[in-house]
Amino acid sequence: MKFPDSFLCVTSSDGRPVAVQIPLEAWRRIESLARPVLSGFYSEAADSAKIPAASPEPVEAFEELLRYWDFRYPYSPAVRCPVCNTSAEDWRLGDPRPFRLVNANIGGLLVFRCVACHTTVRQKHFRDHVAFEHTTRV
Ligand SMILES: [Zn+2]
Repeated sequence: MKFPDSFLCVTSSDGRPVAVQIPLEAWRRIESLARPVLSGFYSEAADSAKIPAASPEPVEAFEELLRYWDFRYPYSPAVRCPVCNTSAEDWRLGDPRPFRLVNANIGGLLVFRCVACHTTVRQKHFRDHVAFEHTTRV
């Protein structure tokens, strides 16, 4: 396999690079070296993530999505985490709430963070269906 000039970058919705993807074979070769470094990074990230947890949710963007909802089915506020099986009939209810809204846009994307296990749960609303995706920590 040829060494790439650049690695595949995962970007945020505003085009900011947030992750780098490497081939699984490359990961297998560096995993034992990378794990100790990454565990330090993730514990630091978890500590700093406690501060943004208090940051406001994008409620206005969510309400705008509902206001212009033109999908062929009603909005469902149910959210489920496929990693730890936490679920909510309505993510907006509960104290404490099991999910936090971290991103929303009028195009139909809703992103939640599972408070219990920090998995990111995405609901991508299309005209006739919803696609569910999730990302959990390495
Ligand atoms: Zn979870």
